[in-house]
Amino acid sequence: QKIQVISLISEVIETMSMKYPEARITFDFDIDIPENIQFAIDRDHFSNVLLNLIDNSIKYCDNKPIITIKLFLHNNSHKLSLLDNGIGIPQKNLKYLFKKFYRVPKGNQNYVNGFGLGLFYVKRICDLHHFKINLESQVGTGTCVTITLD
Ligand code: ATP
Ligand code: MG
Repeated sequence: QKIQVISLISEVIETMSMKYPEARITFDFDIDIPENIQFAIDRDHFSNVLLNLIDNSIKYCDNKPIITIKLFLHNNSHKLSLLDNGIGIPQKNLKYLFKKFYRVPKGNQNYVNGFGLGLFYVKRICDLHHFKINLESQVGTGTCVTITLD
């Protein structure tokens, strides 16, 4: 089913901004992307993907969470990126992130609870859509997740 992804992203951001008023979540899309652009996505599952990623960005952050979401064209592909100013993830742990129940050892100073299922689910849903997902991170700086939509 074809879904207008820009309005879906806006809805998710509105939900999360109300849940976490302390977080600053912004969304920008390239000038050459039409506002009503559609993609074949499962609305509920793809919303959950974004909710999970934003949830992580807020949970694993030691100061005021600033999350920057962008939809842009790169090499003829539409990409959705989500950048945060969180605590980051050590390089050596990155390759395990999408595994079921994996949590980074000492991955947060605040001992935030979690099952280690969020990113497993995110990866699974991206796979089912044939969307590539990439995660880059730097300890003390933040994390950037990029999903290639086509
Ligand atoms: P759940 O999502 O099931 O509630 P969780 O958040 O621990 O639990 P994942 O979302 O799969 O599980 O994330 C796995 C681990 O990766 C987290 O425990 C955390 O250590 C690390 N992590 C994930 N996203 C971020 C992020 N944006 N910044 C820093 N660390 C992160
Ligand atoms: Mg999580």
